[in-house]
Amino acid sequence: MKALVIEAPFQAKIKDIPYPVPGPGEVTIAVRNIGICGTDIHIYRGEFISPYPIVPGHEFSGVIHSVGEGVEDFTEGDRVSADPSLFCGSCPYCKTGKGNQCARWGALGNTVDGSMAEYVRVPAANVVKIPDSMSFAEAAFIEPMACVVHAMNRLQVKAGDTAILFGAGAMGQQLIQTLAHSGVSELVVVDVSPAKLEMALKRGATRCILSEEAEIAADRLHHPQGYDIVVDATGIPAVIELALTFMGKGAKYLQFGVTPKDAEIKVDPFQLYNKDWTLLGSMAINNTFLPAYQWIQSGRIDVKPLISREISLEETIAFLQGPRDPGEFKVQIKI
Ligand SMILES: [Zn+2]
Ligand SMILES: [Zn+2]
Repeated sequence: MKALVIEAPFQAKIKDIPYPVPGPGEVTIAVRNIGICGTDIHIYRGEFISPYPIVPGHEFSGVIHSVGEGVEDFTEGDRVSADPSLFCGSCPYCKTGKGNQCARWGALGNTVDGSMAEYVRVPAANVVKIPDSMSFAEAAFIEPMACVVHAMNRLQVKAGDTAILFGAGAMGQQLIQTLAHSGVSELVVVDVSPAKLEMALKRGATRCILSEEAEIAADRLHHPQGYDIVVDATGIPAVIELALTFMGKGAKYLQFGVTPKDAEIKVDPFQLYNKDWTLLGSMAINNTFLPAYQWIQSGRIDVKPLISREISLEETIAFLQGPRDPGEFKVQIKI
């Protein structure tokens, strides 16, 4: 079968590799749509924990192509999406509900071969059936939405909290929609792209700020007390340091964007102590795939406008090489 293989950092190729035959309890999915994620780009650049060679791709949808021994819930032809998480189930973290911190953490497309291929093999327990009313393009958004749901579980928004979010890309937009439904009284969004800010305003942001010095300074005047919730969805260290300057008293900060793994930021420990700050991380997915499916299936979260374009597996190599268009939301691969 055809697959995109990253053989080493900055070396991606389309290759013919063996069909992944499903083992007991596994299914093999004929892939239809794959979302390209910032993490895939980090893997391409050697900035993530992945081994090489690897087939990236962890946001996907498709059709069941073959089922392994003992699989009863799925048959060939079922339309599906799947949680890429691979938790061992037996380490202290898995046994205490923190599977996303599993001592042997793995995920399709991150630590084992993923979905940028014609077929992908997945544990049947990870698979969710999708209705005919949900397109394959939408279903490839369940995985990023599952990361958003985990982030919301970490944040624990209180009704009336004020929030500011940096980075209105595809992930930021899903966070914006979810925050808007979760009780924040004010939701300010900062980005460098006017088009992304326009989308944010349509989907629940109460105010937008173009990331320029003058606009940022004007917001400080408008809102000198800072915000209750500050979210970074950019993963850019300089933006994170800027975001932290918007922390109010008793504020919570959420690191949602993935930075390069050797990135550093400065945090003022006096303010951390003096203002009762809470600093939160949010790592991938933790039993949040099904709730994410429900958010999208009900129409509560609208991911359709977040798909900027579809490209082929072959075109994906040039996309990984960049440069990226800052006005673009999610780019998906269509198999
Ligand atoms: Zn991702
Ligand atoms: Zn574990």
